[in-house]
Amino acid sequence: MHTAPNSIVVLTGAGISAESGIETFRAADGLWANHPVEEVASPQGFKRNPQLVYEFYNQRRRQLMSEEIRPNPAHSALAKFEHDFAGSFLLVTQNIDNLHERAGSENLLHMHGELLKMRCQNSQMVFDISEDFSFDTPCRCCHSPGNLRPHIVWFGEMPMHMNRINEALERCDLFVAIGTSGNVYPAAGFYQTARVNSAQTVELNLDKTGSGFDQHIYGKATEIVPAYFAKLLL
Ligand code: NAD
Repeated sequence: MHTAPNSIVVLTGAGISAESGIETFRAADGLWANHPVEEVASPQGFKRNPQLVYEFYNQRRRQLMSEEIRPNPAHSALAKFEHDFAGSFLLVTQNIDNLHERAGSENLLHMHGELLKMRCQNSQMVFDISEDFSFDTPCRCCHSPGNLRPHIVWFGEMPMHMNRINEALERCDLFVAIGTSGNVYPAAGFYQTARVNSAQTVELNLDKTGSGFDQHIYGKATEIVPAYFAKLLL
C-alpha cells in the first residue's frame, strides 16, 4: 500500500475464532462439528429433522456461552483499530459467534446471522436468546410451537445486509479478508467487488486459499492480525 487507506472493509471467517476454541467449518469434507452441513445448515435439513437442527445450534450456543470461549487478540486488534482509525471502517463477519462485539467492535454486520438470536418464521421478528430450544418451545410473538428458527443464513438462503456490504465494498480503498477459506459465496467474491474502486486486496489466513488477492500474509490470526493492523496505523 503506497498511501494510507481512507475507507476499509474487513471480512472475517471461522479462522479468526479458531484460536478462541470454536471449530472452523471444514469445507473439504463437508462436515461442521461432525455433521453433514446439509443436515444442520439448510432449510431442507430443518424441515426433515428440526429437532436435530435445534440441538446442533443449542450445542454451539452452550459452547459459545461457556467460560472458556473468549475473544482472542485478533478480535481485540480489530476493535482497537476501529477506535483508533480516523477513516471509514466496516467489519463484515461470516461468523455467527459474538466474539467481535465482545471484543468491542461496533460497525459490524453479521452476514450469516447470529447464534444468540431466533426468528419467527411467520412474523420475521428476531429475538435475543441464550437458552436451549426445542420444537415444542412456543414462539415469543405468536406463541405457537415450531415457529421459531435459528437466525442463521443456511445454504441456499440470501445473506443479510448485502446492499450495505456492496456499497461499502465499492467505495473502499482497502479490503482485508481474515480466516476465510473463500469457498462460500458471495463472501468469496468480495475482493473482486472491492476492485471496482481499485481497492488494494489483502488476505490474512493460516493456509493458502488460491484466491487472487494482491497480498497474502500467512500465519495464525492471533499473530498476523495484530501485527498487520498496528502497522496500518503508523
Ligand atoms: P472455513 O472453515 O471454510 O475456513 C476457515 C479458514 O480459516 C481456512 O482457510 C483456514 O485455513 C483458516 N484458519 C484456520 N485456523 C486459523 C487461524 N488460527 N488463523 C487464521 N486462519 C485460520 O470458514 P469460512 O470461510 O468462514 O466459511 C464457513 C462458514 O461456516 C461461514 O459461513 C460461517 O458462517 C460458518 N461458521 C462459523 C463459525 C463461527 O461463527 N465461529 C464457525 C464455523 C463455521
